[in-house]
Amino acid sequence: MTEARPLVAGNWKMNGRREDGLALAHAILAGAREVRAELLLCPPATLIALVGEAIRGSTIGLGAQDCHPAPSGAHTGDIAAPMLADLGCRYVIVGHSERRAEHGEADALVKAKAEGALAAGLNPIVCLGESEAERDRGEALSVVARQLAGSLPAGASGARVVIAYEPVWAIGTGRIPKPGDIEAVHGLLRRELARHFADANAFRLLYGGSVKPSNCPEILGLDNVDGALIGGASLKAEDFLAIAKAAS
Ligand code: PEP
Repeated sequence: MTEARPLVAGNWKMNGRREDGLALAHAILAGAREVRAELLLCPPATLIALVGEAIRGSTIGLGAQDCHPAPSGAHTGDIAAPMLADLGCRYVIVGHSERRAEHGEADALVKAKAEGALAAGLNPIVCLGESEAERDRGEALSVVARQLAGSLPAGASGARVVIAYEPVWAIGTGRIPKPGDIEAVHGLLRRELARHFADANAFRLLYGGSVKPSNCPEILGLDNVDGALIGGASLKAEDFLAIAKAAS
């Protein structure tokens, strides 16, 4: 890890009704005092206001899973970053591989979304990661470097932008890269950032993809890993808190 305070973010994806979302938020809140890492909950859009109310005044942050690049306008079904800020969000995930794959989002759009987030006062969590075929072809590092260059917003700084390395083939599969492979990507990200930013060490570089209580101590102890983005395990308060404690 670098000196930055670790961030452990839960991406609830398209899961939860009001009752279970609220129960999950309350259970995480109950265990959050023992956590030193920064905790963040990213519920589906339908639950942001409710979860925001539940964690209001606590140390847990509120985030969203996506935003539109524009601050308002005729974009049916989309949500603008200022609307998320209005609900109390501090962060928004952009460029998650599920959005890249299911909605055809390419780097330029991810960058525009991250810029929309910054303009609204939100901190974007910019997701990157190679597919299995790209890793098999030995292209993981070049793919991630290209995505970083294409997706980083203008005006980025270590205090405002978080990068999440999430190999597509590790998301929801129970498979994780070898520790050395995670370090190789995170080291590359840090070096790339250092070419452009004096505060490169202040960017938090999260790892995401099948993080669980059993594998998190090793992952979170790797060089240049400053926290984690958690999908499946963030839906169980006990597991999410166990991971957060390991990052503390
Ligand atoms: C994710 O989709 O961001 C993620 C990390 O999912 P999981 O933890 O379920 O692999």
